Amino acid sequence: MNLEHVKKIDPEIYEAIVRETEREQNKILLIASENYASRAVLEAQGSIFTNKYAEGYPSKRYYGGCEYADIVEKLAIQRAKELFGAEHVNVQPHSGTQANMAVYFSFLKPGDTILGMNLAHGGHLSHGASVNFTGMLYKTVSYGVNKDTGYIEMDEVRRLALQHKPRMIVVGASAYSRIIDFKTFSEISKEVGAYLLADIAHIAGLIAANQHPSPIPYADFVTSTTHKTLRGPRGGIIMCKAEHAKIIDKMIFPGIQGGPLVHVIAAKAVALKEALTEEFKDYQKKVISNAKRLADGLIKRGFKIISGGTDNHLMLVDLSNMNVTGKEAEEALDKAGITVNKNSIPYDDKPPTITSGIRLGTPSITTRGMGDSEIDEIADIISNIIRNINNSSAITDMNKRVKALCDKHPIY
Ligand SMILES: *Cc1c(COP(=O)(O)O)cnc(C)c1O
Repeated sequence: MNLEHVKKIDPEIYEAIVRETEREQNKILLIASENYASRAVLEAQGSIFTNKYAEGYPSKRYYGGCEYADIVEKLAIQRAKELFGAEHVNVQPHSGTQANMAVYFSFLKPGDTILGMNLAHGGHLSHGASVNFTGMLYKTVSYGVNKDTGYIEMDEVRRLALQHKPRMIVVGASAYSRIIDFKTFSEISKEVGAYLLADIAHIAGLIAANQHPSPIPYADFVTSTTHKTLRGPRGGIIMCKAEHAKIIDKMIFPGIQGGPLVHVIAAKAVALKEALTEEFKDYQKKVISNAKRLADGLIKRGFKIISGGTDNHLMLVDLSNMNVTGKEAEEALDKAGITVNKNSIPYDDKPPTITSGIRLGTPSITTRGMGDSEIDEIADIISNIIRNINNSSAITDMNKRVKALCDKHPIY
């Protein structure tokens, strides 16, 4: 990226950008919700559309001069429809949470009941957590995973749905490593007369590449972020049946947002175009095979993975048999140049600030071209760090191995 002007006008911000670039290059990023957007995505997002107001929708704007903004937004919508097979798409949500908010505000009244996945079992804040607007406005009930298997149990979801008669069922997760059964969720929703919202923020790229079943035929609403496995700019998207199009569009604007971020929508359009390619499909296959290999590599080295493995891009490592907390692991791994997040495991006896687990994901390392041999090396490094958590010379040695991997795989 050309930064000559920032450098001149604002050296402090320039310096932070340079340091962030070095961080992203020189560390192994295993945060499951992150990725490296392409240069084309970065260029579109950094474009002159930053300057443009475009309240409204293509051909129905409240501002003049939107002819090029219209081209951008129409292309983004058209490509999302093609990629996911959706009847209607809104590309304006500023984030995944805004996308969910628009769905809730469109079809729920305060006090209505939502049935969503327990945050402590892998769900998302915006699915009914007490600290989130969803927990403040709605009555929320949650399903979790089975204590022994680590899988979502559909009988339990059905039992809770019949008992609580939710107005909306939310399916989707931030830390669940298994295939989600959208079809059965839709059957349960129909049985109890609930709307079904599928939030595919984490797995959108996998779904786009046919590497995970799609909720599009089953859910009334599908929301997503565009910056996780989909590898676009930070933002959100809503897909729905044509019958709900008007109310969703009206809720995004003027309901809960003002002007759309046209520069971000331009970057979404670029990312969606990339997602329609064969290379993207191969990339998503590799993301999954890398995750499976990493899980296997860790299991071989004595680690416990929740549910025993993964079907997608991430895994939850249960560190309780290692006598190490999630917080300690996160800090030690960071010292060695591996960035992860501590994460509660289902039925965790430690608070969310400590946790018994870490979440690992392969989208970022796969984007920078890492495969089997690098994954084996990473599994070995992680194991060495966790097993030598108080040994600073071991951590320094591991950092050298991390640096060697990073040098071999430039991020751009
Ligand atoms: C990441 C995520 C979101 C929210 O995305 P933001 O853009 O951070 O608001 C919503 N739902 C799920 C399941 C997520 O994992």
